[in-house]
Amino acid sequence: MKEAGVHAGLAVIIVGDDPASRVYVNNKKKMCADIGILSEEYALPAETTQEELLNLVRTLNDKKDIHGILVQLPLPKHIDEKTVLNTIVPEKDVDAFHPVNVGKIMIGDFDFLPCTPAGIMELIAESGIDLEGKNCVVVGRSNIVGKPMAMLLLHKNATVTICHSKTRNLKEICKTADVLVAAVGRAQMITDEYVKEGAVVIDVGMNRLENKKLVGDVDFDSVAPHTSAITPVPGGVGPMTIVTLMKNTVTAAKKANNM
Ligand code: NDP
Repeated sequence: MKEAGVHAGLAVIIVGDDPASRVYVNNKKKMCADIGILSEEYALPAETTQEELLNLVRTLNDKKDIHGILVQLPLPKHIDEKTVLNTIVPEKDVDAFHPVNVGKIMIGDFDFLPCTPAGIMELIAESGIDLEGKNCVVVGRSNIVGKPMAMLLLHKNATVTICHSKTRNLKEICKTADVLVAAVGRAQMITDEYVKEGAVVIDVGMNRLENKKLVGDVDFDSVAPHTSAITPVPGGVGPMTIVTLMKNTVTAAKKANNM
């Protein structure tokens, strides 16, 4: 890409001063710098109006040296997340949240993969785990993690069950899983009682305990001895999410330059 004079560029917008969001944005900027992607940060005050934010997104949509636009979530309550995400043009939607990209993921014909689920699929593939015919249970059905995760597993011919807060017999269902993905947002909720002997356990959760320690949705110490593979928190899924964001930005830059 360098030889062709193409320099991938990512714009990251952060509104307000949520400390967790700040950490995520810094991590993304750092990886951009490490691998040679141009990153532009737009740090806006919490009282930014929706129209001001939309105007910035529209400006970035037209900016030639920016190939990916990321709006760090959550946004302040007075701003409608959906309206903002839908304003990003699909070609620069490197988070894959736009309905066009979500639809493409559904039919298995996509340009960008959603960052966290795609990072997980890469971990699974790199670990040599064959998903065909496996029972995969995803706990959580958010648009960002749970639903696209289930779809990517299905594309790999797994038999997929999605669980959520209204699921009955959660423990029993989880215990059927060859691959268990926890994307709940509840600290250490998945104990060894939820896990079949030899299962693969993927922990997406990022929860801060009162003592500031970062833990996942899985109680790592009780679960790990029963697994054939498990992702830790911190580490594991978090860094892979950023890796996919970088890949998506490079893909967007290549497409914009017909490469
Ligand atoms: P959401 O809050 O959007 O979704 C949580 C899901 O968990 C919902 O579907 C909810 O069900 C379900 N749930 C809540 N309580 C229970 C319960 N007791 N039993 C079963 N299901 C339950 O969260 P996200 O999907 O955005 O994120 C999940 C976690 O992953 C968070 O900790 C987040 O910080 C982390 N995360 C980590 C990333 C990474 O890069 N590592 C990236 C993105 C998120 P219902 O739909 O019925 O409410």
